[in-house]
Amino acid sequence: MPSLDSNYRGRFAPSPSGPLHIGSLVTALASYLDARANRGQWLLRMEDIDPPREQAGAAQQITNSLLNHGMTWDGDIFWQSARSAAYDTYLQQLLDKNLAYYCGCSRRQLAATNGLHIGTCAHPGSPNGDAIRLRVPNETIGFNDRIHGSQHRTQVELGDPVLKRKDGLYAYQLAVVVDDAEQGITDIVRGVDLLDASAWQIHLQNALGFKQPRYCHIPVIVGDDGHKLSKQSFAPALDDQYAFANLCLALHYLQQTPPPDTINDVADLLLWATEHWRPQDIPARRQFDAINKSL
Ligand code: GLU
Repeated sequence: MPSLDSNYRGRFAPSPSGPLHIGSLVTALASYLDARANRGQWLLRMEDIDPPREQAGAAQQITNSLLNHGMTWDGDIFWQSARSAAYDTYLQQLLDKNLAYYCGCSRRQLAATNGLHIGTCAHPGSPNGDAIRLRVPNETIGFNDRIHGSQHRTQVELGDPVLKRKDGLYAYQLAVVVDDAEQGITDIVRGVDLLDASAWQIHLQNALGFKQPRYCHIPVIVGDDGHKLSKQSFAPALDDQYAFANLCLALHYLQQTPPPDTINDVADLLLWATEHWRPQDIPARRQFDAINKSL
């Protein structure tokens, strides 16, 4: 657990593919409380780099929901859709240093390795319409997670991720690393479904000379089918009218002490939860229970 650190800069980085649901509220709340408990900044970054997956109005719904749940971010919203020039600059640096490469492999060609692109490219691509991949070295990438402890990932587990897609869109791995650095993020609190991706991101940070943030990967809520609750699986949108109850449920999922009965509004609840924030109580291995159907 980090010591009280006023240089702390955390962030919540939703993709506007739909409104917030209880799973994304849990992530937002954990990152918010961790930042505020450290007297740090909490920034909001809209990861709007994948228009085909976005839903009209979702960014607005997300910001409204955060505000209705009392979570106010510091500074302006940071929009990834305005960042193409920066992504291009860093991609070019990686290409120039041979740390990234054009790849013409199709999904079918990668089926034998479960879609993973490992090592040498069998179908080298060209700047005209091919994807760009990060070259992951044949060495173990290690890092520490505040909840999961010491982590190690190998080239064979990771494969070489896409940084820019064939259709010209920038991929999450590139955008998140460039923007965490640009925004001076010191602490990343997000779902455990991104734990593996941290290894790619750390390699990319090193390749681009960026500082490594601290990581804290919290469990994700799973639906009845055992999969992460997500906007793509049509998890029900949060009802902002029940912001107080939603926040209590999110605290419960994070295994934080419930607030006393004397607390009955959103602002007091957040203050109380910040004062009583115990990240060490967040469960490590257990997945959160399936969503309560009555929500
Ligand atoms: N945009 C990602 C999502 O909505 C989160 C990225 C991150 O926190 O690094 O799942």
